[in-house]
Amino acid sequence: MCNAILAGTQTTTRYLVTVRLYCRTMSLLELVCLGAPVRCVGCGLPGSALCRGCGNGLGSALVPQVPGVDRVVVGWPYRGPARTLVLDLKLRGDRSAAAPLATAMIREVAAAGLMAEAVTWVPGRAHENRRRGLDHAGILAAHVGRALGLPVCPLLRRTGERPDQASLGAAERWANLHGAFAAAACPQKVALVDDLVTTGATAAACARALRDAGATRIEVLAACSAS
Ligand SMILES: [Zn+2]
Repeated sequence: MCNAILAGTQTTTRYLVTVRLYCRTMSLLELVCLGAPVRCVGCGLPGSALCRGCGNGLGSALVPQVPGVDRVVVGWPYRGPARTLVLDLKLRGDRSAAAPLATAMIREVAAAGLMAEAVTWVPGRAHENRRRGLDHAGILAAHVGRALGLPVCPLLRRTGERPDQASLGAAERWANLHGAFAAAACPQKVALVDDLVTTGATAAACARALRDAGATRIEVLAACSAS
């Protein structure tokens, strides 16, 4: 996209095409906020989307066991400013919320290590991605892959529309996602990124698809845990 923008600045016509392309990649909110200082969602101080003090105040997250997953790494508990960041990224398309969420995952990886050869993510629903202008877990995966020096690969796809997990009870969530994902041929060791792990049903369904496609070790990196 960056090359397309640079190459499109030769003529007025190309400039207009460039603007249209650029606007399609950004939400109106992001355009309005360009140039505004990033502020902590917890205390409002400028500098970052979540300051060190508010991050430290979140405490440690519970790490769930997920069937088919070798290890789960969680950045924060899903509460307070961490929850705000997840919702800002996911529902408002605020890309600035992704960096602190990814940083929390990287912090935990630095402490525990990671064996993955590639990073992928839980793909969002197509119609929601189009409406929001981004695939939020993909944005997180891009941050994580860049920080770890690992390739970021779109290995998973949804096989069809299913009811939103948030509308279902714990038992229903597992049944709802059976066969909900399929994967391209993939490396043996994969890190699967998502914003939030709750029951683990989504991560387990993705892990099953990745294993069917050749993965032998799967590590889940979740920004938050609501377990
Ligand atoms: Zn703060």
